[in-house]
Amino acid sequence: MSGLPQDTRRKLPKMDKVLSWPEITSLRSLTSHVGLKNAVRNVLDQLRTALSSNPATDLTPTSISHLVRNQIRIAETPSLRRVINGSGVVIHTNLGRSPLAHAAEAALRDTAWGYSNLEFDLEQGERGERYSHVENLICELTGAEAALVVNNNAAAVMLALSSLAEGQEVIVSRGELVEIGGSFRIPDVMRQSGATLVEVGTTNRTHPRDYIGAITEQTALLLKVHTSNFAVVGFTAEVNTETMVRIGQEASIPTMVDAGSGCLIDLAPFGICGEATVQHHLQAGADVVTFSGDKLLGGPQAGLIAGRRDLVEKMKRHQLLRALRIDKLTLATLEATLRLYRDERVALTEIPTLRMLTMPLDTISSQARRMLRRLRALLPPQFTLTLQDGFSSPGGGTYPLLQLPSRLIEVTVNGVPPKRLEELLRSTTPPVVGRLQKDCFLLDVRTLTDAEIPLLASALVQALEVTP
Ligand SMILES: *Cc1c(COP(=O)(O)O)cnc(C)c1O
Repeated sequence: MSGLPQDTRRKLPKMDKVLSWPEITSLRSLTSHVGLKNAVRNVLDQLRTALSSNPATDLTPTSISHLVRNQIRIAETPSLRRVINGSGVVIHTNLGRSPLAHAAEAALRDTAWGYSNLEFDLEQGERGERYSHVENLICELTGAEAALVVNNNAAAVMLALSSLAEGQEVIVSRGELVEIGGSFRIPDVMRQSGATLVEVGTTNRTHPRDYIGAITEQTALLLKVHTSNFAVVGFTAEVNTETMVRIGQEASIPTMVDAGSGCLIDLAPFGICGEATVQHHLQAGADVVTFSGDKLLGGPQAGLIAGRRDLVEKMKRHQLLRALRIDKLTLATLEATLRLYRDERVALTEIPTLRMLTMPLDTISSQARRMLRRLRALLPPQFTLTLQDGFSSPGGGTYPLLQLPSRLIEVTVNGVPPKRLEELLRSTTPPVVGRLQKDCFLLDVRTLTDAEIPLLASALVQALEVTP
């Protein structure tokens, strides 16, 4: 036991005693028998520590049961849960990237409940292929000959390099040797796949002659990587997909594009420029294009591969595919999301990521006024809400320089510093992630939905309740 004085330690009630108190047995409905015992044990541990610094620590059944109830609440809260994103970062990697469309949610529910024809050909009554559920759809939408899906885009790149270039060389521009999210680095993925990286050009400029000069007998692939999360500005030169394809074709070497974000709709009409669509790369002649399912595409985490049939077939036969294979729930939500793209207008309104990114400022402004009115009606008078102009960002490593004009709700609470408010809101149910800027706590209207307003109000009230 700890080095507490004998009499102080003796004051702490014994576990069995505490478990027999009516204040504690009444908590039995909140958790299992083991859950209750664990909660009591944790609380007694905390109290033992508290007693050593404060011998007057409250040890009454009422006080202890309060702590136990809180322990139970913490233990019974799922670790992974919904969060309200007031950050204004649309594709927020730490917050699960893209929220799914309702159609995807419905498909998920339908498939999750029971059995499915995941690998069963209902027409022939025999074994089928899991990839068949989305292959035609991806081909239809992108114009590719063949397609394949895996766990994420990192897996797609890894599979493609392993299948097409193991033991051989892959030429990449130095300006495109990117690191994404701290764990995906082109040189490392290349090493893992058994291909040898041949760097050409310089950080800011790469020319066609650089690729041409690097081609050898050993070259298996020319690789173009979308430099998604940073921008090289100023004196720059990049070889576009068309030119790379031409260089590749002259030497009978396929060209692969890691397109990153998976843009299937040209967003330039919405003032969102700089991201080539997957269709564009394929039309330019790229033999393989890989992209994420949960960035601009707005679907579940997945890696999509679209391209030449013979190359995709090689990937389908590769052993690695078994380890990278996509699961049925992801397939269900991916298929449902892709189906929405058959009508561009439907995709732009139904897919939350696209809807939020392309939302006109007028719409955001009226949404902001509506939200403000509803929140004010739901909140006690200690809260002051005001609207500010500001900017959202696309996130997810897309359009690194783009700032989207938006409207932000500044929340202030009497006597609570903004930093403290931000902290408190991370532990409410649901937690709310906002933005601290120039000592203001802000919620960006672009990433909030009307349906979240009651939850947001409830979280704000909870934050106020725990304020001392
Ligand atoms: C995001 C990204 C990746 C990694 O994709 P995940 O789906 O997160 O695995 C790879 N390459 C590029 C260019 C990217 O932008």
